Amino acid sequence: AQAPAVVTVTGAAGQIGYALLFRIVSGAMLGHGTPIRLRLLEVPQAVKAAEGTAMELDDCAFPLLAGIDIFDDARAAFEGANVALLVGARPRSAGMERGDLLSANGGIFKPQGEAINAGAADDVKVLVVGNPANTNAYIAAQHAPDVPRERFTAMTRLDHNRALAQLAARTGSHVDDIRHLTIWGNHSATQYPDLTHATVRGVPATSLVDPAWVQDTFIPTVARRGAAIIEARGSSSAASAANAAIDHVHTWVKGTRDGDWTSAAIVSDGSYGVPEGLVSSFPVTASGGEWSIVQGLEIDAASRARIDASVSELVEERDAVHALGLV
Ligand code: NDP
Repeated sequence: AQAPAVVTVTGAAGQIGYALLFRIVSGAMLGHGTPIRLRLLEVPQAVKAAEGTAMELDDCAFPLLAGIDIFDDARAAFEGANVALLVGARPRSAGMERGDLLSANGGIFKPQGEAINAGAADDVKVLVVGNPANTNAYIAAQHAPDVPRERFTAMTRLDHNRALAQLAARTGSHVDDIRHLTIWGNHSATQYPDLTHATVRGVPATSLVDPAWVQDTFIPTVARRGAAIIEARGSSSAASAANAAIDHVHTWVKGTRDGDWTSAAIVSDGSYGVPEGLVSSFPVTASGGEWSIVQGLEIDAASRARIDASVSELVEERDAVHALGLV
């Protein structure tokens, strides 16, 4: 039998954690042949709630569940981690300045980066979900000098999936008919959902939808979907966020399908003018457990302006994090 994969999940007692853990252990993330050993990290006051979730996980009698350990110490939680899902973060509260938000999260992601550096498995793959996700991933990576930088990623797959759903609905097609959609930049309101390269059953998407719909409906709907869900549901989009985290890691491990790409925020190598070292969303393929940025795409002027706007926000966040002494 295959040795269990060690999966560390932070913020395990939160809403996304509750939607995520059951699917990880069902086999949806790493496949049905890989047993899972969970290591859950929570703040001390939420450890009891995490224990409750662990009781429910036991009660599912998942054949793949090899064990669950719960920690309030990052060093212990990341010990031996093959996959690390960094979900817990400090949310922005009303009236909070960006500097305060970045400082609060620096206090979480610096020690977690250090803990990953100290004790995670050599093949560790890190996905940051907790916001501001791109910059939190940047902070963690900076504090893990012995871990290859390309192992630190942030999630834009939910934005990608939202864009697929919106385009499918508009064109009366199925999400599976769509190829080559891209989310660029920051996982924030400045992100750029780009359908200039997308096809629907092989037909260019731009020939199927009008430019006004793209500008006035598609882009804002994708970028503001989270707020619309809070408005409708009364709480945030936890299950779809968890699903996207599963998709991200599944693609990373199993690869993208032939003739398509997806979106993920990965450390920039300078492609498409995105400053090297920023954690920014790109069109990516995965193969053999590694992401590659799709090269050579033509970027029209309108796309360039939107990508630049989102990337400047990432530059500002990076500069703020350095000015605050968080890295
Ligand atoms: P959620 O589980 O709903 O969200 C967790 C994080 O994911 C937030 O930063 C949230 O950002 C982010 N997120 C990313 N995408 C989405 C999306 N589409 N929809 C909603 N959220 C998204 O938060 P809870 O408050 O329920 O749970 C957080 C848990 O983390 C708590 O149990 C807390 O104790 C724990 N925590 C653990 C830490 C640790 O282990 N060291 C540190 C800090 C917190 P946003 O706020 O912008 O929505």
